[in-house]
Amino acid sequence: MKAEHSALMKEMNSEITRYLDELQAISQLSHDDLQERALTYIKKQLAHATRSSPFYQQKYNDGDMTDHIHDLKDMESIPYTTKNDLKEQYPYGFLAVPMSEVVRYGESTGTTGKHTSSFMTKQDWEENIARVTDALLHYYSRDDVVFIMIPYELAFASFDLEKAYWNIGATVVSVGAKNSICPMDRVAEMLMNLKPSSIVCSPTRAIRVYDLLKQKNYEPGDVNLKRIFYIGETCSNAKLEKLKQMWGVELVSVYGSSETNSLSLPCEHGQQHLAEDRFYFELIDSETGDVAPDREAGELVVTALTHQAFPLIRYRTGDLVKIQGTRCSCGSPFRTIRHLGRVYDRICVNNRYIQRLDLEECVLSVSGTGCNFIHYNKDSDLIIAVEIAQDYESVEVLRNVQEAVHRQFDIQVIVRMLDKERVYKVMDESLKPGSIDWNKIFTEENNIH
Ligand SMILES: [Zn+2]
Repeated sequence: MKAEHSALMKEMNSEITRYLDELQAISQLSHDDLQERALTYIKKQLAHATRSSPFYQQKYNDGDMTDHIHDLKDMESIPYTTKNDLKEQYPYGFLAVPMSEVVRYGESTGTTGKHTSSFMTKQDWEENIARVTDALLHYYSRDDVVFIMIPYELAFASFDLEKAYWNIGATVVSVGAKNSICPMDRVAEMLMNLKPSSIVCSPTRAIRVYDLLKQKNYEPGDVNLKRIFYIGETCSNAKLEKLKQMWGVELVSVYGSSETNSLSLPCEHGQQHLAEDRFYFELIDSETGDVAPDREAGELVVTALTHQAFPLIRYRTGDLVKIQGTRCSCGSPFRTIRHLGRVYDRICVNNRYIQRLDLEECVLSVSGTGCNFIHYNKDSDLIIAVEIAQDYESVEVLRNVQEAVHRQFDIQVIVRMLDKERVYKVMDESLKPGSIDWNKIFTEENNIH
C-alpha cells in the first residue's frame, strides 16, 4: 500500500503534493513544537483578519489583536465568534480577500433563520483537499467505485471528496441526495447494477438504502459494499455498530462544517485526528463560556491558522466533543476526538435536559431493537418509537427499552413500535433524514400515534 501511495502522489498536481509534504513535516513535530507553530500562525491570522475582514475590523475596533497574544493562554482574552455573527454578516461580512481571489462559494443548508456564507481561495481549497486525500489514501485505491450520496448544491464536502477520490484515481459516481435525477428507486437500481465498493452518505440514509433494497427483493449483500463513508450526521456508537453489522462493512468518517471545512480526519486506525496543522482548538463549557481543560467533553472552539478568504477566530462550533487523552498508535501528534453531538441537540423531560445522542445510545443498545428510533413529545410525555429487529418479541423489547431509559435517566417514557413505513416516507422527502424534527412533523400533521 505504501508503494502505491507514493506512486499515486507522483501523479497528483504539484500543489497537492506540496501540501502533503508539508503535512508530513508537521506530523513529525513534537506537541510543544506544534503549540509554538500554532502561536505563530494565530498571530498571522489575527493580523490578516484585523486588516482585511470587515467583521473583525469592527469587532476589534481596528486595533491590532496580535499585541494581546504572547502565549496560547492569551487566546482566552479574545472574544468568541458565533454562528449568529455569521448569519448577521451574510453574505460578505467575513470575506477577507477580493472576490477575484475566491474560487468557491458555499452556503449552509440550515432550514431555519438566515443562511451563512463561506468562501475559499484556491489555496484554502487545495489545502483542504490535500488533507482529505491524505486521510482517504488509508482506505481507498484506484480500484474503488464510490457513490457520493450527499448534497452537491452550495456544498463543499461533496466537491472536496470528488477531488480527493480523483487524486487517488477511484471512480466517482455523483449521485447527490434527494434530487429528481437520482430518486431513491434509481439509487437502488444503480447500486445493484454498478455494485460500488463504497458509498458516501449519512448513517440514516445508509440504513434506509439497505431496507429499500430488501423491500425491492434484492439482496444488499450482493452489492458487495466494502466501506461506508458516513458524513453529515452524528449518531451513537450503538447505531453505528448496527449499521456496520447490517451491511458488513468498514465505517470511515470525517468531521467538519461548511464554515470551517474538515476539522478532524481518520487515520489508518479509524481514529478521528484533529486537523491541528490548520486549526487551533479549544474546548469550552458551553453554558459558562469558560475554557474547559483537555480530556473533558466540551464545545469545540476553532481558530483557523491558514484561512485566507474566510478567517475564523475562536469560532464556537456548537459541537460537543471529547478530546482523548492518550496518543494514537498511528504516531500522529494530532490529538484524537470523539464527537458527542450538537450542544443544543437535547431533549427536555421533566425540566431536565438529556443529550439526544445519549438517549439514542441507551435505546439502541437494548437487545432486539432495530436501527431506527425517533422521539417526540405529546403533552408532557416523551414518546419513543423504536424499530423491533426480526425474530424478537416486541412487547418484551419495548418493556426493556422503557426500563433501560428509566434506569439511566430516571425518567418515565412511553415506548412504542415504530411505524417504519410512515417514517421512511418522511425520510425519503428529507435532505437530512437523520436530523428530522419529529416533534414538528407530528404536530403539523396533527396525527399523533
Ligand atoms: Zn491515529
